[in-house]
Amino acid sequence: MALLSYKELAEKNKKYLWHPFTQMKDYLADDPVIIESGQGRKLRDVQGNEYWDGVSSIWLNVHGHRVPELDQAIRDQLDKIAHSTLLGQANVPAILLAEQLVAIAPEGLTKVFYSDSGAEAVEIAIKMAYQYWQHKGRPEKNKFLTMKEAYHGDTIGSVSVGAIELYHQAFSHLLFPTEKVPYPHTYRSPFGDTPEAVLKGSLQEVEKVLQEKAGTLAAVIVEPVVQGASGIIVMPDGYMKGLRELCTRYDVLLIADEVATGFGRTGKMFACEHDGITPDLMTVAKGITGGYLPVAATLTTEKIYEAFLGDFAEKKTFFHGHSYTGNQLGCAVALANLELFRKRDLVNDVARKSLYVQERLETFKEFTHVGDIRQKGLMIGIELVRDKVTKEPFAWEERIGVKVCRRARELGMLIRPLGNVVVFMPPLGSTREELDQMLDILYQAIHDVTEKEVAKRHGTVATRA
Ligand SMILES: *Cc1c(COP(=O)(O)O)cnc(C)c1O
Repeated sequence: MALLSYKELAEKNKKYLWHPFTQMKDYLADDPVIIESGQGRKLRDVQGNEYWDGVSSIWLNVHGHRVPELDQAIRDQLDKIAHSTLLGQANVPAILLAEQLVAIAPEGLTKVFYSDSGAEAVEIAIKMAYQYWQHKGRPEKNKFLTMKEAYHGDTIGSVSVGAIELYHQAFSHLLFPTEKVPYPHTYRSPFGDTPEAVLKGSLQEVEKVLQEKAGTLAAVIVEPVVQGASGIIVMPDGYMKGLRELCTRYDVLLIADEVATGFGRTGKMFACEHDGITPDLMTVAKGITGGYLPVAATLTTEKIYEAFLGDFAEKKTFFHGHSYTGNQLGCAVALANLELFRKRDLVNDVARKSLYVQERLETFKEFTHVGDIRQKGLMIGIELVRDKVTKEPFAWEERIGVKVCRRARELGMLIRPLGNVVVFMPPLGSTREELDQMLDILYQAIHDVTEKEVAKRHGTVATRA
């Protein structure tokens, strides 16, 4: 029931909006999808077209859209208050949510510091780690070790600990330097292509850096189990355990960025649970509110929290805070989200459904240009390559991932690629039947775009998409 026509809205969109991560020149030449509503796992645009939300509205939707329990939680909270500040005062949902986060987090994470986005949660983790060592009388421990191709958000600090060249180059002089080691990437690893070899080689690299530089390192930061934005890279089992042991042995803090992997996405509530480890700092955002409102948090241990306690004059206070921190509406919907997790046994359900998806993805391996299929839970990346044997990638300019997603949109599903990796991240609450329909579209889209390449090479006439 848009009051304006599609044409009018599209014009205003063009005139006033600057979209994130978007080359606006391309975007303006295209017909944009303008979403009006959603229901369950589907989105509906102002022209009445329906699409599966195949990327969970950028990795954050959990149960679907217009979930009655979540909608009601916001309405109930709205009847009390929408927001009051956490600077100086507390509020009911922020307290109750902190208690629940501590209850579900890996053992030993006992304090919750709120913010509004994943990038902020990462900034906070970095600043806490940095200041922690000052309080411990070790100010020289002020550098960070990160993983190559890491993504931790788009603010200057979080880009600094990130390592995706494309996002770095424009801002390089604004960023602080870091140490980098390769993420354990079985498909493209200098250490061999068995998980065992990759695990061993990658951990040895970490240890080499720690042996030399632990005295100047505040923390190691890592996307546990799955490195997301670099292309859904799944690490071998045991890496997080090895990394935890190394950090402990060399007295360096471990920051686990669970912004993408947290809240059931990988088939455990938090990815750190796969290896049964507790980081010193853990960041969460995306799925925390079921994909409804911007709430994020940095969790940490008593040890780190206590290092910041002191007399007022000692200036040990953690000087950081955002205006909307601990927002009541956001915390209320997060509480309702967690209640649905329990009621629906959602984490185990994700683990079960992911096995089914894995079976279906087997058939995708037959495609000429599907080089690697990576999956943990309902976090899936399909890497398209020019040559399967040599793993030669498609040229970046070919925008093969974009083309597949374009085709998926025509077929009724919205997804977004990461370069040559087609990402499939359905809402965790998707039913088997819904997953089937989404996978059918995914299969068809990859087929239509990449097998056309095959036809071209063999000189046969490609059919029009
Ligand atoms: C998305 C993401 C972030 C950034 O979160 P925002 O809420 O977009 O700022 C940080 N870390 C990881 C691992 C992410 O996937």
